Amino acid sequence: MTPKRGSSDRQAELDAIQTKVAACTRCRELAETRKQTVFGVGSPHARLVFLGEAPGADEDREGIPFVGRAGQLLTKIIEACTLSRDDVYIMNILKCRPPGNRNPLPEEASNCREYLDGQLAIIQPEFIVCLGAVAAQNLLQTDATIGKMRGKFYLYNGIRVLCTYHPAYLLRNPAAKRDVWEDMQRLMAEMGIELPGK
Ligand code: URA
Repeated sequence: MTPKRGSSDRQAELDAIQTKVAACTRCRELAETRKQTVFGVGSPHARLVFLGEAPGADEDREGIPFVGRAGQLLTKIIEACTLSRDDVYIMNILKCRPPGNRNPLPEEASNCREYLDGQLAIIQPEFIVCLGAVAAQNLLQTDATIGKMRGKFYLYNGIRVLCTYHPAYLLRNPAAKRDVWEDMQRLMAEMGIELPGK
């Protein structure tokens, strides 16, 4: 029988990729302008991964994904699902901040893809939530709008993928919080996680 891999094995494998990422210069502009790379945080055994677009100014400063205003809203969404940031894994398509928070260029996303796929291969999550159009379109290689994609499950390398609005969009359009909550309720039902009052 193959022994179950311990948490430290997975953490050590993630650490090895993180070391490579920290020294990465594949995207010259990003390597020259970043304060640091932003790899990912959470449990190496997470059943659920939240995937964003790229670090912003706060994340570039702290080295941790989703710590700014949008990140605080993401934390609230995770907690509303009766989970904590330590139960899940949080990461982005790009590990470097694009200057001025511009969208990732296709070449940058493709340069970073090996790291993203490496993280997923180690964590082996059952579910991924793509936060916003950039994450959804990049992961699933489509140009469908987030409005079209949200609320449905897709497959990526055997992992079930749900797309929903980015928390930064919710800060600008609070009315869309209802849609995200609907998406999260559907996800929790699929994950077998009971929500209070449901
Ligand atoms: N927005 C993202 O997409 N990712 C972050 O880490 C922070 C803000």
